[in-house]
Amino acid sequence: MAEKLAAVKGMNDILPPDSARWEWLEEKVRALMARYAYRNIRTPIVEPTPLFVRGLGEVTDIVEKEMYSFEDRLNGEALTLRPENTAGVVRAVAEHSMLYEGGKRLYYMGPMFRHERPQRGRYRQFHQIGAEALGFPGAEVDAELILLADALWKELGLKDVALELNSLGQPSERKQHRAALVAYFEANIDVLDEEARRRLHSNPLRLLDSKNPAMQAMLEAAPKLMDFLGKDSVKHFNSVKAMLDANQIAYRINPRLVRGMDYYNLTVFEFVTQSLGSQGTICGGGRYDYLMEQIGGKPAPAVGWALGVERVLELIKEQSSEVPAPVLDAYAVIPEAAALPAALKALQQLRAAGVRVQMHSGLSLDSMGSMKSQFKKADVSGARFALVFGADELEQGCVAIKPLRAPLDAGKPDAQSLHRLDDVASWAHKLGS
Ligand code: ATP
Ligand code: MG
Repeated sequence: MAEKLAAVKGMNDILPPDSARWEWLEEKVRALMARYAYRNIRTPIVEPTPLFVRGLGEVTDIVEKEMYSFEDRLNGEALTLRPENTAGVVRAVAEHSMLYEGGKRLYYMGPMFRHERPQRGRYRQFHQIGAEALGFPGAEVDAELILLADALWKELGLKDVALELNSLGQPSERKQHRAALVAYFEANIDVLDEEARRRLHSNPLRLLDSKNPAMQAMLEAAPKLMDFLGKDSVKHFNSVKAMLDANQIAYRINPRLVRGMDYYNLTVFEFVTQSLGSQGTICGGGRYDYLMEQIGGKPAPAVGWALGVERVLELIKEQSSEVPAPVLDAYAVIPEAAALPAALKALQQLRAAGVRVQMHSGLSLDSMGSMKSQFKKADVSGARFALVFGADELEQGCVAIKPLRAPLDAGKPDAQSLHRLDDVASWAHKLGS
């Protein structure tokens, strides 16, 4: 026998019935995005490597060690499986001059790829849903995006999701803060661990993200960017906060929230939960007014977020919010293969009328399976009705409908009834829910 093949480590198959949760979530998101006037964008999963190197920053975790990069065997082009989709969206917006007539609100859903150590809530292929608003400089759009995410948690029935907020100011303000930070870390060099020392000069801001307990007290007392923000940055931050306050959105200011990508400025935020262990960040985002320019587009302000679908679904499971199971209206019992042409024709008409119906399929045309085994399968399928395409029924030009489950308000299932095959439309509605 040939060697059995398995999926790549850290990359998961999403199978039924679990996939129903995914579809349920995606439908909720689509409906919600429409209500906020965000429209769908779909960009390639593979992008030129320089897009991420330039966009995300050379010394970020993602670019340093997490990207699936490879050379196109045929033309030598440097390509990368997208580790996130903000850079791709910005590239597409620039490439198609989408801001020509003003700002654009966009959303996406899809797989992302990062070479990380697989564990609960952390995979090598994972999925994000993201919302991006490009061409809008105002704090009201930052607030709108946070309100949109909050509305989604409510829509999904999630509890205990907390918002953390920070402002990263503008590049010049960060530069001053950075200099102060480097000086402070240098003065505390004996407290820094190896990784911190390595990054001290390349990316001192990322040190603040360290979880090393031995460094916490020192980090807590480090110079705060908030103290270096100029008047306009403070005003922007205060505006966002005022709009969240007016909407009773609770938040915690977290001065150490810096996010993984270099492209952020002003508002940054994360939604976190205690219910998922150490992978507790379900959504992160912020403003990225300089990214467009950085990848060679015409400068344009922008803000957005991305949520981790696996983590959100895990949280839904954890909090046992209801996810409706897919419903099957009917199961077609077909005792003899001779009935197949008439049955297929009737089922086709039923489906066109919106009825969800599963066809029985036998071992061979000579052996469709006993009535007993077919009814057993009908029962397991969860369908509310069996359609019986028996020889007697077909002789009368009919199909029998047999309820498999008692209606909620009655004790016994109704009796079987006959319905004409030449007029499916007149009774199809009986099967729908
Ligand atoms: P983390 O700190 O957990 O590594 P991140 O800052 O790298 O997260 P972002 O790049 O901001 O994450 O991505 C947005 C969201 O995507 C995260 O909040 C998380 O929910 C999800 N996410 C990121 N990386 C993974 C992964 N490897 N597996 C599953 N979900 C992920
Ligand atoms: Mg990460």
